Amino acid sequence: MKYRTILLFGAPGSGKGTQGKILGSVPNFHHFASGDVFRRLTPETELGRLFLDYSGRGELVPDEPTIRLCREHLEAAARDGRFDPVNDTLVLDGIPRNPNQARLLSPSLDVRLVLYLSCSDMDKMVLRLQRRALKENRLDDADPAVIRKRLEVFEAQSKPVLDYYGPDLRCDIDATQTPIKVSLDILQAVEERLG
Ligand code: ADP
Repeated sequence: MKYRTILLFGAPGSGKGTQGKILGSVPNFHHFASGDVFRRLTPETELGRLFLDYSGRGELVPDEPTIRLCREHLEAAARDGRFDPVNDTLVLDGIPRNPNQARLLSPSLDVRLVLYLSCSDMDKMVLRLQRRALKENRLDDADPAVIRKRLEVFEAQSKPVLDYYGPDLRCDIDATQTPIKVSLDILQAVEERLG
């Protein structure tokens, strides 16, 4: 069975997490953020160590373990009733992050909408990331060199995901607006496309 899915897509600092939590709080939407799941791993596990290693450098964790983790979490959420694959729409945040991940996930996903939180103002995103580093104790956001690397990785490796899904599924949202205006635009797009 394929999960009916909305992708929240955008550069680090574009507000995916904030918006994902809001959309995920609406009945019949289930928010899944790959970064949050990685951060909950402990360094005693092999994948926890792998995550600290790659994210500390601003790089993506390798695809196979990332997809496995995502699958296992969604299956567990479905088993214990937090996610109802028949009635819920899955809101994926932070995954797929390159075209290979999109290919690996394709047997499991029925992607209906790709919401691209676009932000032309790089300085704004860097500022958001630095503020978040202080508030949420996120080491990968504290170092300007790591932030730069993360933005480069987004441009080079993640942006091609937009081409993978094509223009028909894509809806651009201006991420430089206030969070409430971004939410309004997202809800409107979801209502128009999914009803
Ligand atoms: P942001 O939204 O700020 O880019 P995330 O919280 O989504 O950050 O991710 C933090 C880190 O977790 C990434 O830099 C990466 O190392 C790792 N990560 C998260 N999702 C994925 C993914 N789908 N594939 C590979 N690595 C990932």
